[in-house]
Amino acid sequence: MTSISSAPLAPLLINGEWLRPAGLETTPVFNPSTGETLASAPVSTGAEVEAAVSAAQAAFPAWSETPAVDRARVLFRYRELLLHHFEELAALLSREHGKTRGEARGDLQRGIEVVEYATGIPTLLFGDTLEHVARGIDCETLRQPLGVCAGITPFNFPAMVPLWMFPIALACGNTFVLKPSEKVPLTAVRIVELLAAAGLPKGVLNLVHGGHGCVDALLTHPQVRAISFVGSTAVARRIYETGTRHGKRVQAAGGAKNFIVVMPDADVAKTVEGVMGAAFGCAGERCMAGSTVLIVGDAAKRILPDLIAAARAIRIGRTDCDAQPDMGPVISAAHRERVLSLIAQGQQQGARILADGRGARVAESPGGFFLGATIVAPADPVENILMREEVFGPVLSAIEVPDLPAALEVANRSRYGNGASIFTRSGAAAREFKHRIKAGMVGINVGVPAAMAPFPFSGWGDSFHGDLHVQGREGVYFNTQQKVVTSRWFAEGEGDIWRK
Ligand code: NAD
Repeated sequence: MTSISSAPLAPLLINGEWLRPAGLETTPVFNPSTGETLASAPVSTGAEVEAAVSAAQAAFPAWSETPAVDRARVLFRYRELLLHHFEELAALLSREHGKTRGEARGDLQRGIEVVEYATGIPTLLFGDTLEHVARGIDCETLRQPLGVCAGITPFNFPAMVPLWMFPIALACGNTFVLKPSEKVPLTAVRIVELLAAAGLPKGVLNLVHGGHGCVDALLTHPQVRAISFVGSTAVARRIYETGTRHGKRVQAAGGAKNFIVVMPDADVAKTVEGVMGAAFGCAGERCMAGSTVLIVGDAAKRILPDLIAAARAIRIGRTDCDAQPDMGPVISAAHRERVLSLIAQGQQQGARILADGRGARVAESPGGFFLGATIVAPADPVENILMREEVFGPVLSAIEVPDLPAALEVANRSRYGNGASIFTRSGAAAREFKHRIKAGMVGINVGVPAAMAPFPFSGWGDSFHGDLHVQGREGVYFNTQQKVVTSRWFAEGEGDIWRK
């Protein structure tokens, strides 16, 4: 199979045909390791979005009538193809995103786990039955697909986030239009291409590209029944409001600010490893990044020097070659400028710099979008901009607090609520934290408590707008509508048998 994704202009997939985009407007796709332009993302025209939705609508009757076991078989073949092309996909993902090859493998692996979950659709769609709910009357529930669903995805998980969405939607019998991030369209093209190769009928999954114009066309289209969105908070809120106003079911995951509490009894080595991975993995460009560490009491003396030393030891470098660094670049020059500006504002508001990665350079790649690992200590744990805003870069804020209630108070004042973790040996502290923290995904001695495929990706607060999250049973519920069937039967010539 030749790969379409090597084309310089990312193609569209409409009704099973790979098309060259009609519009002239494009946006650059960078290799963040070098700053060079790898390809272009087209901006799909209104006619292309219309054609994609029409193709999905036309494919819906046959696909939704395809037995769940047959839909699952397509996904089993898809899983095999994703595994067969695993290294090629990881290299492509790493090249257009900038994360290390190991992080790219993780991105892909988490997505494949959702495909594996979705292959269980024949049992996931089981309904409930109750015989004799009233005299002679039986009741059962059925789950049926919605119709055309659409997904809009962010740049930071080019494989995992699209795979959160369309495998479960399709397994449930829906058809789909995907609009990936214009910053990383090539991985999306390739994973869609592999699903077509797995035998998905034409029109069941369609791919368009672009920014808010394309998204608005999907959000307001009368034939689109449901919208799955993952991206920044302001956009998530807008998507939720516009989509629901147009009568759609919407799940919209937004940005985050995640806190890690370190208790005085925490294992130092394991905690440092956990905090470093959470703060600096994927260059901090994760909605589950542990971007703030709240260090309780004596823990500061034991842990802070090791955190600073570990941050200074992180090797940055190119991720588009065989020798892999500890940390790759951020997504763009503009994003690096934004992170640097947030650090500068934080400093003006009283933050001290404990480890300074701002001047870090990669000699062999001066055009790459690199930033070194940085640790800051904001004086004000609530009002400092670094505590209020999602930085989305390799910046860890370290705050000392006297006790667990003080840590909970700081964390619970955040408007977000995606994830939070505690490192401790105390069951009592862990239980108190688990119960009181206002976040939807909680880690106990786990730095990044990102929910895995069988569980919902369960953000709270400004990290999520909607009712049903992606993945797990909630993903199945989001992608289906329930029918409750009440029945009774009469025997020939005998009237209501239940009256006997
Ligand atoms: P983004 O909001 O800029 O873009 C996300 C998607 O929305 C893209 O496809 C983009 O083309 C589209 N878009 C951008 N502006 C739009 C607008 N005004 N109207 C309609 N559509 C628009 O986000 P990003 O920079 O690509 O991704 C990073 C953000 O995503 C971070 O805030 C991160 O926390 C968040 N994120 C959240 C989760 C989660 O589960 N909560 C997971 C991953 C990423």
